Amino acid sequence: MPALNTKALCDFIDASPTPYHAVDSAAAMLNAVGAVRLDERDAWSLEVGRAYYVSRDGASLIAFRVGRTAPSESGFALAGAHADAPGLRARIEKSVAAKGMDRVAVEAYGGPIHATWLDRPLSLAGRVAVRTPDGIHRRLVNFARPVAVIPNLAIHFNREMNKGVEYPMNQALLPLVSAAGPQPAGADGQAQVGSWVLRAVAAELGVEPDAIVSAELTFVDAAASAAIGADSEIVSAPRIDNLEGCHAVLSAFVSAPTGGHGQIAALFDNEEIGSATPRGADSSFLRDIIERIVALTDDSGPEAAHRALARSFSVSVDGAQAWHPAYADRFDEDFAPVLNGGPAIKANANVRYATDAIGEAAFRACCEAAGVPCQRFRMRADLSPGTTIGPISSALLGVRTVDVGVPMLAMHSARETAGAYDHDHMIAALGRFYAIGPSIADC
Ligand code: ZN
Repeated sequence: MPALNTKALCDFIDASPTPYHAVDSAAAMLNAVGAVRLDERDAWSLEVGRAYYVSRDGASLIAFRVGRTAPSESGFALAGAHADAPGLRARIEKSVAAKGMDRVAVEAYGGPIHATWLDRPLSLAGRVAVRTPDGIHRRLVNFARPVAVIPNLAIHFNREMNKGVEYPMNQALLPLVSAAGPQPAGADGQAQVGSWVLRAVAAELGVEPDAIVSAELTFVDAAASAAIGADSEIVSAPRIDNLEGCHAVLSAFVSAPTGGHGQIAALFDNEEIGSATPRGADSSFLRDIIERIVALTDDSGPEAAHRALARSFSVSVDGAQAWHPAYADRFDEDFAPVLNGGPAIKANANVRYATDAIGEAAFRACCEAAGVPCQRFRMRADLSPGTTIGPISSALLGVRTVDVGVPMLAMHSARETAGAYDHDHMIAALGRFYAIGPSIADC
């Protein structure tokens, strides 16, 4: 039987080319269950059992549900994921033109696998600051169609290229966006105003190019997410790292029953570049929200927030490295999770992942309660793993945290691969965690 949540995951990913769009996709899921949008600039009043959400700068989002008892008595069940993905960020004012061909200058965001961005139709999306008579406005743009391609060099010019090629970002990875033939740009021979990016985005938004003051625009895979296999058990999609985690956390959150404890779902931007931004996991955002919830719902005194944090437990959800049949030697075979074997618990002696023994036991208990399998990931001992928001936010909050994720292949490729059943299993495990609460980690 096909997995239950694959279509919803693919739709979420396809609607979310950037963290700005992911926040909108998340808000739509939250609005559908009656969650109330809050603004950090306003004064809040909160009701027990009600779900709320707040976005910081439109690129990170925290949703929460107020529990039936004071946070100082029952703490918070927290789950978090990151909404950003590695890719190619456009330099908006700079087109590189030669012989009638326009390319857009780019720089890397995070650590993409360069070669995977070549020879595939690319779309463009992001946030734009637009000048209008009454001030600067933020607008989202999503072309949602092929507008560029990065052509490879033909093998005839480099017979060695199947031994591996370096693709310099400032030279080989510039997306090609137009080819007008040898004539000067502009069909009427008139010089065109602004770079290709400015003109294209202006046309898309229905404004003049000189109204665009600035923008954060990313090239993304233009092809839709797809399910592969006799039972559609393989998901092939861009940004599985970590929109799968975002969608799993949100799916579990929106259907969780109100508990004695509070429930929090956090989606952070900027994990791929270290999280140290005003809206990243290494910011005040999550602590600010927790302190406000406690201030408004707990009158037990000045220690309430500290007591609430000391009773809390957090699950950091981010992609795990799946065993790869073509590169089996890269893995410790006893700690190499497989696609569709269940969520993986990730640990590392140097706390690149936040997991400790108690956190691992707690997440295993969630999986058991949900009736889903789970696996372990440890990097081969002579290699260093990546990291997640887990160690950062657990250190900031002082909250025990476990790092988990669905096993996936080709992490940081323009298109990644994961198991469809693992997404169902992750949602089920997180659902049990939200229902049971942070006491599952008490021992
Ligand atoms: Zn990730």
